[in-house]
Amino acid sequence: MSEAGIIVADDAYLRGLREVCDRNGALLFFDEVQTGYGRTGTFLAQEHSGVVPDACSLAKGIAAGFPMGAVAVREDLAGALPPGSHASTFGGNPVACAAALAVLDAMDDESMIENAAVRGAYLAARLAALAADPEIPALEARGKGLLRGLVLPDHLDPASVLDELRERGVLLSRVGGQVLRFSPALNITLKELADGLDVVERTLRAALRR
Ligand SMILES: *Cc1c(COP(=O)(O)O)cnc(C)c1O
Repeated sequence: MSEAGIIVADDAYLRGLREVCDRNGALLFFDEVQTGYGRTGTFLAQEHSGVVPDACSLAKGIAAGFPMGAVAVREDLAGALPPGSHASTFGGNPVACAAALAVLDAMDDESMIENAAVRGAYLAARLAALAADPEIPALEARGKGLLRGLVLPDHLDPASVLDELRERGVLLSRVGGQVLRFSPALNITLKELADGLDVVERTLRAALRR
């Protein structure tokens, strides 16, 4: 759950959902709009758990910001929505489809998923170090791949931290109240990531002294 504050569903919870659905003949649907397309270091985040849903939603990264969304379903369900049964005014737009194909090529050529996993591990280590440092006001680091959150204590206003970061050239967002969200480009270099995290570290250190 990204908007709620980068809350990771643990594997046992996901397995439990699968079991409840199977027992009751319900379909399991994962929303991978933010977590899909390599964001967490695998093509889809569901691959971390091994739990396979019956369908999942995809958007955002699917066409690198060009407006597009899709629902992927298991092969045996593909006939559930035959042509003509479900329409969208802009569905199947050829320009959006060309962008989506270009994204798949770029992901292969530039090994973006691998980059998200490797840089994601670095990001995790840096954020964990911030959370463990008593001189930095950060309580917890969590997330997967290049989608991560840093939880700030209640006495610190995330809005002013975000303003200061922006002035120093680092764009983060705030989710779930007290959580800074890190969601950098999948092709970010180690230097870009390290430089950005240095700015975050300096900004948080200064925030504690005020
Ligand atoms: C943005 C977002 C959506 C909505 O996607 P649309 O393509 O705008 O409908 C759904 N789920 C999550 C997790 C999102 O981040």
